[in-house]
Amino acid sequence: MTQTIHHRLHILEAADWKDGLITILEPRSPYRPWRYGFGETRPGDYAILVLGTDPSSVLTVLARIDHEGGFGGAVLNPYAADLVDLTTLAMVLGLSDAFVSWRLDDDDAERVILALHESPVHGEPHYRWGHSSVAAARNLLRFGGDCHGCGVAIDLSEADAREKVHVHTVDPLPRPDPDLPIRSSDSPRLRGPLRTSLRGAAKDWPAVLCRRCHGRMQADGCRSFVDFRFAQNPECPRCGSQRTQSIQYGMPADPGSWGPWLHIGGCCPCEEKWRCSVCDHEW
Ligand SMILES: [Zn+2]
Ligand SMILES: [Zn+2]
Repeated sequence: MTQTIHHRLHILEAADWKDGLITILEPRSPYRPWRYGFGETRPGDYAILVLGTDPSSVLTVLARIDHEGGFGGAVLNPYAADLVDLTTLAMVLGLSDAFVSWRLDDDDAERVILALHESPVHGEPHYRWGHSSVAAARNLLRFGGDCHGCGVAIDLSEADAREKVHVHTVDPLPRPDPDLPIRSSDSPRLRGPLRTSLRGAAKDWPAVLCRRCHGRMQADGCRSFVDFRFAQNPECPRCGSQRTQSIQYGMPADPGSWGPWLHIGGCCPCEEKWRCSVCDHEW
């Protein structure tokens, strides 16, 4: 009786993670960073995309092999994709071949497919902090196409794409201070707010920048993207502070990812465009 292979998971790898991501974000890119060993493929087989970050990382969305119209390669819908570290994944799932094979079969393949399907990694803001190339790649993967500094679209379709896009990485976030471990009889029994919001506490913010904004930050000696964004807003006409926020109206789906230079104005649009974070003046 011959054994049937139930699952096949092909591996595509881009040693240069930035070039690899550019081809995912911009299919017209002239870059060809992907290596693969598609031997026997069947339509519908899964493929994982490995990036040469340090440590290596894997896209949390799987591609499917497509044979329609000749050799179709692997089809990927990168919407809501994130990255997980391949070393940890291989350790947790017991994948002995994760770094030496171009294909995982049967149980190994099934464990990876289930892990990535059943534990969807959403873009939690905390995953984007830190200076590792995995954090940089996460920020590039989800940047949305427009420079976070000036809002102008960054064209990644030409050979100089890798010089046109810069990822500003930031220090890892410290945990908030814990409560005092000693209480007296008159200490308040209720804890304060569990933690201050990321928006209120962050001194810097991860960002993807066009060449011009990256150059301006360097020329101004500006180390923090939060400072860079605040410096572009008008100063407060009442107190003269430079920490003013642009008011955005509507209900944000993901308020935790809003930088501190933005103010969540609620769902009723008003005339006011700016708000001072020092004296609360709005105009
Ligand atoms: Zn820019
Ligand atoms: Zn003010």
